Amino acid sequence: MVIIIEDFIPRGRRNRPGYKLVPRYITIHDTANTNVGADAMTHARYLKSNAAAAIPASWHFTVDDRVIVQHLPLNENGWHAGDGSTGTGNRESIGIEICENRDGVRTEAEKNAAWLTAKLLKDFSLGLDRVKQHYYWSGKDCPRVLRGRAKGWESFLNAVSQYLQPPGNTPITGKAQATVHQAQEWARRRQAHARFIEIAPVYWLYGALTGIRPEVLYAQSAKETAFGRFGGAVHPDQNNWAGIKVQYPKGDSRADFESFPTPEEGVRAHFNHMCAYVGLQPVGVPHGRYWVVLAQPWAGQVRYVEELGGKWAVGADYGISIVRDYLEDLLATPSPPVVEPPSPPPETTPEPPTQPEPEPPEEPAPEPPPPEIPGPEPAPKPSPEPAGSFLVELILRLIDFFRELLKKLAQKLK
Ligand SMILES: [Zn+2]
Repeated sequence: MVIIIEDFIPRGRRNRPGYKLVPRYITIHDTANTNVGADAMTHARYLKSNAAAAIPASWHFTVDDRVIVQHLPLNENGWHAGDGSTGTGNRESIGIEICENRDGVRTEAEKNAAWLTAKLLKDFSLGLDRVKQHYYWSGKDCPRVLRGRAKGWESFLNAVSQYLQPPGNTPITGKAQATVHQAQEWARRRQAHARFIEIAPVYWLYGALTGIRPEVLYAQSAKETAFGRFGGAVHPDQNNWAGIKVQYPKGDSRADFESFPTPEEGVRAHFNHMCAYVGLQPVGVPHGRYWVVLAQPWAGQVRYVEELGGKWAVGADYGISIVRDYLEDLLATPSPPVVEPPSPPPETTPEPPTQPEPEPPEEPAPEPPPPEIPGPEPAPKPSPEPAGSFLVELILRLIDFFRELLKKLAQKLK
């Protein structure tokens, strides 16, 4: 889903003729404007200008690499096809212009246009054969970028047909379908940074706590952080595994992305963020951006990874890419053989085996006053949680317990 902004040409303008349109075709154009800043919003302003009214020129949508702007309602025609005032192109098709501004990412604009085209075909129950080039109606060399590129038009139609496929149905919630060892093996094979491999067990812990599939979020984090190598706007010391923005970001710079005190806290935030999408309760106190997601109309409704496109990230195929480029590979990775270190001979150990009974060494219950927020170290936490419920307390204690257990296990393995 890409954001569609409505910015209609005012009624009564010469380029808003208002003839009734029953869409039977979709006509694709390129703007032929490579100027810096010639994006969808700029074209929206142009269509409201006297220059556009004088021609008269108008179409229904302009698509750039970030947004789609709609200039006309879909039951009114525009003048874009060059086949005359009664031409089928002008009177029976929806016009879409794809931006060429050189400060935009053309491939993203094409993806967004393909997504929009597929959406319109579905909305009006039309087949792929109803997608036409401007050229089809009037012989103009348009869309010139798609026409000028080898297999350009073919690949555009292919992208449209991909969006026409029934949406993927990879569930976000449910039991883990991969083990943490499997995921770590996958990460190693993909040359992940050590920090990405080391954080995996925390994903499986929060997966068990929340009911979200840990391998799904781990795969998402691989995409977001380039397997923990980062290298984008987010820096490793921000402990932000999922590109989570601050509550009110101004752009896409480092400061627009949330920072978390520890890698583990970053994982907690990643799960909490997804909780807002799928309608689960967060663990502990959520970060600021959680509340922004919760206010979206689709909050709590998202079921499938493929639905994350246009929501978690701008790209329409964001979720598809998580599944196709990361998750499928993770799930197909065989578990590494478990190398059990032979148990050491008991005689040389300094600790005398005085205990006659193997007493349970770790119990979560009788711990001294626990820290309220999960953290690997008992870092000083001056601010107590406001009104932390008993359940949250319990869960956080469980996390600490499991983390300690894992640490000890890891030490034993060493
Ligand atoms: Zn055109």
